Amino acid sequence: MQMVTDFSYIDENYRRISFEVSEAMAKYRRSDEKVDIMAVTKTVEPAAVNHAAELGIKLLGENRVQEYCSKKEFYSKDTEVQFIGHLQTNKVKYIIDSVSVIQSVDSIKLANEINRQAAKIGKVQKCLVEVNIGNEESKGGIDKACLKDLLYETAEMENIKVCGLMAIPPIMGAEKYLCDMQQLFADISAEKIENISMEVLSMGMSGDYVQAIKYGSTLIRIGRGLFGPRNYG
Ligand SMILES: *Cc1c(COP(=O)(O)O)cnc(C)c1O
Repeated sequence: MQMVTDFSYIDENYRRISFEVSEAMAKYRRSDEKVDIMAVTKTVEPAAVNHAAELGIKLLGENRVQEYCSKKEFYSKDTEVQFIGHLQTNKVKYIIDSVSVIQSVDSIKLANEINRQAAKIGKVQKCLVEVNIGNEESKGGIDKACLKDLLYETAEMENIKVCGLMAIPPIMGAEKYLCDMQQLFADISAEKIENISMEVLSMGMSGDYVQAIKYGSTLIRIGRGLFGPRNYG
């Protein structure tokens, strides 16, 4: 018997998310603002990812270099992939030619390597700086206190263009941290650092995207809410 894969749960999830996003935008934001929805694809098979792309989610978020490299050739060509996971410097070379944005820059060392690899292929790599807004040991991201130093250093790098901030706030009390990120984003914008633009504030996941929209997110990253529970097999 042939297995028929039914992706209608993705349709339903997407309908619900779209509805909640437009409700939140209407309630909390100016009419000329917009928010992008990213499909977070870790552990998700390419057929399901492509189904989401057909529904209109062309922006994909990948966490793991190895998994991404094994799946990317199967993704429909009209998708755009951004890297959102912890990135080891020795793996930058595997993704540099195919991701539009690296959202997880959190050290000078990593920025230097991205700059070096991007120069090799004649690319200016768009990046976001990830902020560890809850000061959690278990999480990536740079300390809030060190953020400006990192930004000023990356501003000098010819093959990197920082265009915003990313955060994964603590699960408990997320609202306070989303609010802190909004403030930080505004502060950095006001500082008008040369060669740094604050266009993207990437925050909000399946559990907190409505709140993230309330606090100015321009890009929400949805995994389980779209594809269902992850199977780590
Ligand atoms: C897994 C992941 C997400 C999505 O999380 P969900 O709770 O499944 O929506 C978003 N951002 C990053 C960086 C992730 O690793």
